[in-house]
Amino acid sequence: MLSPETLCVQAGWKPGKGEPRVLPVYQSTTFKYDTSEQMARLFDLEDEGYFYTRLQNPTCDAVAAKITALEGGVAGMLTSSGQAANFYAVFNICQAGDHLVSSSCIYGGTYNLFAVTMKKLGISVTFVDPDASEDEIAAAFRPETKALFGETISNPTLEVLDIEKFARVAHRHGVPLIVDNTFPTPINCRPFEWGADIVTHSTTKYMDGHAVSLGGAIVDSGRFPWTEHADKFPGLCTPDESYHGLTYTEAFGEKAYIAKANAQLMRDLGSAQSPQNAFLLNLGLETLHLRMPRHCANALAVAEYLSRHDQVAWVNYSDLPGDRYHALAQKYLPNGSCGVVTFGLRGGREASLRFIDSLRLAAIVTHVADARTCVLHPASHTHRQMTDEQLLQAGVRPDLIRFSVGIENADDIIADIEQALKPQIP
Ligand SMILES: *Cc1c(COP(=O)(O)O)cnc(C)c1O
Repeated sequence: MLSPETLCVQAGWKPGKGEPRVLPVYQSTTFKYDTSEQMARLFDLEDEGYFYTRLQNPTCDAVAAKITALEGGVAGMLTSSGQAANFYAVFNICQAGDHLVSSSCIYGGTYNLFAVTMKKLGISVTFVDPDASEDEIAAAFRPETKALFGETISNPTLEVLDIEKFARVAHRHGVPLIVDNTFPTPINCRPFEWGADIVTHSTTKYMDGHAVSLGGAIVDSGRFPWTEHADKFPGLCTPDESYHGLTYTEAFGEKAYIAKANAQLMRDLGSAQSPQNAFLLNLGLETLHLRMPRHCANALAVAEYLSRHDQVAWVNYSDLPGDRYHALAQKYLPNGSCGVVTFGLRGGREASLRFIDSLRLAAIVTHVADARTCVLHPASHTHRQMTDEQLLQAGVRPDLIRFSVGIENADDIIADIEQALKPQIP
């Protein structure tokens, strides 16, 4: 078993004799064959090989293999965005009439996907407080529930998920636990080690790390026993008419889940990552193990500074000893959590806005988790449509500042915060 640092640099692309040392961009939509029989076998999923980039591409596959190795899974795939990854991860095992249980502390885009768009497809969702007891979470399950969903560290509220608790509830009900592991990345947490079955990512964030390419990924641990719950998962355990009656669990074993997501969802919905984006993502992954500790060290310094500042009303950062998630973070994220810190000012919403406008180094952008320090006020930006009451329900306080600490010098970042807080002293 190679260590994560080595996997970041070396996993995925395995060149043969005389092949490029560096993963090339296979900027080709299509791939050549010598006989029509060879091509036909690919369409029947009887042979492995490339034929059309919507379904598979060598650049994308090498990068998916690297992320799969980092998470410790058996199979993985890239998608065009994190949104597509979470949609495919759920839709691969849910259809009209089915039900999903999800933590209420999740990314706003995922919340809308589940609460609004999936509902239109006939898939209903019950949101649960991730800090509720096992019995309270279990009470949300129904006979038609097909999955439990949560985020390792929620964006933007920074709740740390008790993955083992969630996995126990999911498995008691014969369904997989799907965990969005975007914020910690596999450098800081590998949810499979705690019982999660499927992991998703917005690779747009730390994995790319440079804010240059949108992308997503799904990784399967290969451990969920689909066939033991065959009645719940007919899509995986009974013949697929669109592939000549092939049954994914029989044909692909522990890789059935990803095989189906590729063969059906990518074929029919087409949210494929471009090879160019996958190439850029791979460059980001090569330094992920160097960047994450730096993000965490800088974020801790910022969080400590903020928690001592008399204009700061509250700070959330699970690496701070007093944080309400410190104990869970020590268990699941012993090497650090992520670079995102949230806080509010004593002056409330107005003071938060004045502060953000006064920053010079930290830029106001709709992004998070990249090399450059950036900032956002969810109540005015990503969550703008919500009333103060709805904001509080989503755990987003109206004064919440989402501060994404980059990999610059921590003293410079803190000096910027200091000068932005100064004009507010009456
Ligand atoms: C950004 C984000 C997403 C959505 O990813 P996109 O790449 O923007 O589509 C999903 N989950 C989390 C936790 C995120 O931060």
